[in-house]
Amino acid sequence: MNIDSIKNGIVIDHIAAGNGMRLYQLLGLDALSCSVAIIKNVPSRKMGKKDIIKIDSKIELDLDVIGYVDPGATINIIQDNLLVEKRTVPMPEQLTNVIRCKNPRCITSTEQDLDHIFKLTDKEHKIYRCIYCETKAN
Ligand code: ZN
Repeated sequence: MNIDSIKNGIVIDHIAAGNGMRLYQLLGLDALSCSVAIIKNVPSRKMGKKDIIKIDSKIELDLDVIGYVDPGATINIIQDNLLVEKRTVPMPEQLTNVIRCKNPRCITSTEQDLDHIFKLTDKEHKIYRCIYCETKAN
């Protein structure tokens, strides 16, 4: 695909350099059959360096994941070569089944059916804690 021109799709821009790959993994973009490009360390006047993800299809994205990994990222929706929507996502108050609790003694490690739920407990420092055992997400 020509990474500069997306006819119908999504461009996630202004991702802090280094977060692109994490976003790619947590969004499950590896499972898509359409073209996906991660462009790393793009020079940016505002940010120094940034990552960009281009998805050559209008898929449903889990916006909570974007708000969690990088609330500074911009989501651009492109339709017929035109930018039709541009938005950012605030840090979500709660994350459900986005990340997993790492505490081996947490109830989620024995109860397989339980949702992995984290709550934003400190917005300033972007700290999420497991609602069952209060272990900090990293
Ligand atoms: Zn836990």
